[in-house]
Amino acid sequence: MNRFSVVTLFPDLINAYRNCGVVGRACERGLIDIETVNPRDYAPDRRSTIDDTPYGGGPGMVMMVGPLRKAISAARERSDCAVHVAFLTPQGRRFEQHCVPELAGHGHLVLVAGRYEGIDERIVSHDIDSEWSIGDFVASGGELPALLMIDTIARTLDGVLGDQCSAQEDSFCDGLLDYPHYTRPESIDEQNVPAVLLSGDHGAIARWRRKQRLGRTLERRPDLLEQASLSDADRSLLEEYQREHERR
Ligand code: SAM
Repeated sequence: MNRFSVVTLFPDLINAYRNCGVVGRACERGLIDIETVNPRDYAPDRRSTIDDTPYGGGPGMVMMVGPLRKAISAARERSDCAVHVAFLTPQGRRFEQHCVPELAGHGHLVLVAGRYEGIDERIVSHDIDSEWSIGDFVASGGELPALLMIDTIARTLDGVLGDQCSAQEDSFCDGLLDYPHYTRPESIDEQNVPAVLLSGDHGAIARWRRKQRLGRTLERRPDLLEQASLSDADRSLLEEYQREHERR
């Protein structure tokens, strides 16, 4: 079982997600465990103060070392396996699909969600093992980034998805984007499902899907295709895709 502890001032945000969808079912079935630790519970005063003004002046507040350090220690102590403490920050390493196995390998991941201007740098240098960003933009807090990471990691764990093959064909799993999906009805507003998908010919369907994955990746994310290892069969499928699309 993979365990996630989120150090957060807003545990309700995490708890709401814990009851939904794939992550909710994984929790229910004991495949993952998500808990929260609130630094306010470790505040030194009756007003539960966890932030203060920045040294040197400037706008906003900074999360203080004391309550945050105690919250991280409490999260660490709740586990008997090796613990990895990750801080969510726009300044961190970019979280991408290929990073998931590395993070999933930590049996217990403590995710520290910042708020306000961020956290005191002494926490970053002494209490944090790695720093992760979900993209080049600034959100108001680390809770959504933490949930994104938990969700992304959880869906790759054995038994979490009903059909594990669906994760293996998702975008980025082998360096390509996913193929297009269709469901009933066969025809709507003069838009038809591609005939091959109705043919029952599994070989032809697999070939068509591979061709779509290659073609879409070329069109939408050529940077990914440059990194992908393509077979000779892939290259000829890609040429076929380009010929078909030139004609349109
Ligand atoms: N002053 C900080 C900076 O510019 O690096 C941003 C602080 S942000 C308003 C508050 C918190 O949201 C951060 O401490 C971090 O935990 C979280 N956060 C915001 N954007 C994020 C991102 N792109 N990836 C991961 N965490 C993010």
